[in-house]
Amino acid sequence: MVSLDEARRVVLDGCRPLSPVRWPLGVADRCVTAESVSSPGAVPPFDNSAMDGYAVRADDVRSAGPDAPVSLVVVATVLAGHPCDLAIGPGQCARIMTGAPMPAGVDAVVPVEQTTTGSWDPASSGGDDGIVGVFQAVDVGAHVRRAGEDVQRGDEVVGRSVVLNPARLGVLAGAGRATVLVHPRPRVGVFTTGDELVAAPWPLAPGQIRDTNRTVLLALLAREGFDPVDLGRIPDDRGALTAAVNSGVRSCDALVTTGGVSMGQVDLVRVVLDELGDMTWMQVAIKPAKPFAFGVVRRGRGGRPVPVFGLPGNPVSSAISFELLARPGLRRLAGFADHELVRPPVRARVLGALARRPDGKVHYARVMLSADPESGWVVRSAGGQGSHQLSALAAANALAVLPDGDGADDGELVEVIPFDATILS
Ligand code: AMP
Ligand code: MG
Repeated sequence: MVSLDEARRVVLDGCRPLSPVRWPLGVADRCVTAESVSSPGAVPPFDNSAMDGYAVRADDVRSAGPDAPVSLVVVATVLAGHPCDLAIGPGQCARIMTGAPMPAGVDAVVPVEQTTTGSWDPASSGGDDGIVGVFQAVDVGAHVRRAGEDVQRGDEVVGRSVVLNPARLGVLAGAGRATVLVHPRPRVGVFTTGDELVAAPWPLAPGQIRDTNRTVLLALLAREGFDPVDLGRIPDDRGALTAAVNSGVRSCDALVTTGGVSMGQVDLVRVVLDELGDMTWMQVAIKPAKPFAFGVVRRGRGGRPVPVFGLPGNPVSSAISFELLARPGLRRLAGFADHELVRPPVRARVLGALARRPDGKVHYARVMLSADPESGWVVRSAGGQGSHQLSALAAANALAVLPDGDGADDGELVEVIPFDATILS
């Protein structure tokens, strides 16, 4: 048996970040950047109003108060997108809308609610030659958004090896970018194997079971921000498996298969992958998910090596070897930095017990992690721990790491891997 760390090293050695591509911002969410981006200009690009109101000289309205309005002559209306060429003189002001550029001569904005106007009728065009009473004194700069207050010219807005998210894409758009250099989202093909598998409605014929692995894995891949490719359910047949691997390798950046990697008589995935690729077959010292294969199959002679993850068939085993072994490799393909390949664990107190027997393996128990106001993180079993018992995985939000031995008693601290970091925040 090899340790999980050794198996992971084999995986990571065979996974290189996909070559960067220039992608439109609209499709780059969750991709990892392959460049650092600086803004060639300031954001906002010009001083503008933060309110609908009147652009004034603060000095003119210094004496204004609720019972002592200061009258100003309205000489212009400035709308967003329509700069005003007129310079505003002493005793004058301009109607101004949110986002409109500040005209020359003024240095503050009084919100419309603080004037005799009270509010505007959006339907009226509004003359420029009225008089307005201002009820509020304002400081220089009040309700003005200064050029560069968000981003200054030359600022780095997004670094290299950063995972894009909607706001970061917005910042790039604000810096004038339409595209960004990223590692492409890996296209990951999934096929499941086994003559017993069906996806038919009830009733099942004798010996048949439903294919659950493909549903789970395709969803896991989508959650990771990868592009899942459904390559179907393949029977235990050499020709069919060979065709599936070849077509997957042609169309995908990586392949994930389940089943057929143990020592059974029809574990033909093993035979086929050995023929087509350069595979390492491992018995990993973990439970569930002991049998695991990783290797590369080349896309034709001299072609790009496509990583192939041969996961075990049992439903919980395949999901957990995806989490512990395939996910880090796929994240490396996607360009994630080394420290972001595996999820950071937390320590939690066991409620009840998480029992196990010594067997030379580290167990990954399906658990429910929650925050307790007194004891911090607490963890309890999520149900039956068999590798065929998908319900407990469905009820779980974390894995508890139980080193070889007798498990953890009530109140003991264990290391826990939460599936979703958002529960920690
Ligand atoms: P194998 O690794 O092919 O020997 O499969 C191990 C166990 O997992 C067997 O009981 C299979 O029937 C079951 N199994 C294999 N593939 C799937 C699948 N896609 N969905 C659900 N169970 C599966
Ligand atoms: Mg099988």
